Amino acid sequence: MTEPTHHDLRTTLSRIDGKGYKAYHDIKGSWALPRFTLVVDYVQGDPYAAPSRVRVRIPGSVTELPPEACRPGARAVGTGCLLARCFGQEAGSRGRSRGSGRSGELRIEDPAQKVIRNTAVQVAPDGAVEARFRVGLPARGRRVLGGQAAELLLDDVPEIVQASLVASAHESGELLRHAEVNEDAEVLREALEERELAGFVADGAVLPRRSGIDDRPLEGPAVVPFRSPDELRVTLEAPNAGAVTGMGIPRGVTLIVGGGYHGKSTLLRALEQGVYNHRPGDGRERVVADPDAVKIRAEDGRSVSSVDISTFIGLLPGGTETRHFSTPNASGSTSQAAAIMEALEAGARTLLIDEDTSATNFMIRDRRMQALVPREREPIIPFIDRVRELHDTLGVSSVLVLGGSGDYLDVADTVVAMTDYLPADVTERAREVARAHPTGRESEVPGPLPELPDRRPRRDSLDPSRGRRSVSLKVRDQDAIRFGTDEIDLGAVEQLVSWAQTRAVSEALLLARNRFMADRPTVPRLLDAVMDALEEEGLDLLGHGHDGDLTLFRRHELAAALNRLRTLEVDA
Ligand code: ADP
Ligand code: MG
Repeated sequence: MTEPTHHDLRTTLSRIDGKGYKAYHDIKGSWALPRFTLVVDYVQGDPYAAPSRVRVRIPGSVTELPPEACRPGARAVGTGCLLARCFGQEAGSRGRSRGSGRSGELRIEDPAQKVIRNTAVQVAPDGAVEARFRVGLPARGRRVLGGQAAELLLDDVPEIVQASLVASAHESGELLRHAEVNEDAEVLREALEERELAGFVADGAVLPRRSGIDDRPLEGPAVVPFRSPDELRVTLEAPNAGAVTGMGIPRGVTLIVGGGYHGKSTLLRALEQGVYNHRPGDGRERVVADPDAVKIRAEDGRSVSSVDISTFIGLLPGGTETRHFSTPNASGSTSQAAAIMEALEAGARTLLIDEDTSATNFMIRDRRMQALVPREREPIIPFIDRVRELHDTLGVSSVLVLGGSGDYLDVADTVVAMTDYLPADVTERAREVARAHPTGRESEVPGPLPELPDRRPRRDSLDPSRGRRSVSLKVRDQDAIRFGTDEIDLGAVEQLVSWAQTRAVSEALLLARNRFMADRPTVPRLLDAVMDALEEEGLDLLGHGHDGDLTLFRRHELAAALNRLRTLEVDA
């Protein structure tokens, strides 16, 4: 049987014109258009519901993408993200209301500034492209508008494809640039390990963003491009750009100090986002961090399920022990302690901490406070007393933004001072200051780092059911997953970067529960199982199978979601 053609689709649409909305089910399936295949995977229930899911598959002979832009891995991902952005722009300029509700909507997941493997646009080695997007099938009231649907699917979609997904839609060199820049970023990140660096910020990088809600680079004369201090400058080799110079942040304990408003947090944020790649022109395309760098912050009010926080918190008032600490309502300090222990469990190798978002009493207890409040009455072992041990014993580095507490000078390997947005290496001077002004504080460490107990999440505590539905997942926005009846608040998980990533995490929780929890794995084994399965079988393992709105995440973000599930119960 040959595939029905665009003529057949047109005929079907005119046949169902004026019928009830359900008649749109007749267009489900594949249609051979002149230059590509159109697949309708899912038809929305009514014009007000989430729009229908549609795919186009364009053969390499039509896209004519250069093979160098399609090599599997970083190059194909870089190209795919460029195509998705262009498709989104074209769709945005053509989409318009074509009736009631969401009729006429045309939308693809736009990767914005990030370049991360995703399902919106996938590029095959032979140049074939598959793009997945949403279409609001047109209706008046709840009656099919067949003519409008034909215009949308048979005129607009082919025009958008022609203007975004084929080589001729792009200026020469542009495609290759996106592929190569992404490949370079990948190689730069891989070089960190061997060079014993926790992060790298290239000379010339632009770190500040337009605003807290606009991730595009700040522009204008006020922008100060990054320039490494000579002492910390390293040269890394990128396959396409060649030698790239910039500041290498050595493994160990690094402080970023300096006056308020001099760019400390901006630098840390660039590092925290440097676990992901960025598009050419972003300003951070050559800023890379340890792929296992995890941002740590205080998050009072979160839930914690049986985490051993005794590394940082001793016996709590009322005699609550902290080897198996659970609470529906953590304090600033206990939440930050739990975040670190959970990150270590998930395999973090670098901790990124900003004083702006830390609990002060977790970070430091100075000499005067030690004198006033005896140790027996202070359960907190401040981070300053563990940060060296974390590195020297476990090999876990820390990068800390600190403007307020000089006590940390005693425990730092490297000190970078930000002045007018530019870094200076003040490590030597910091040592002198530390010698000249002893803090007199005493270490509060009661003993060596405790062995961490295995945590085995209980499968039945991950319950995706809600009412009569056996599975109910909802991702309202980037910061919130509803898993069954449980709300997972991800507002403080700063390395989750898009709605599509959060959605993928929500589906991965379901996958973890359905496929990998029967033999009660520990948390790290569970994370391994899910991440390995995604590596081997691809992102289509998640969701319905052909979803266009899934973006890959790291094991750390999956762990963050699991650990914030309020119903989570853990055997430890
Ligand atoms: P700090 O953490 O030291 O108080 P921030 O990193 O929050 O400072 O930066 C303060 C302001 O300066 C922010 O609005 C930020 O966007 C801006 N900024 C940071 N780095 C630069 C830069 N390199 N060029 C121009 N503006 C910058
Ligand atoms: Mg700051």
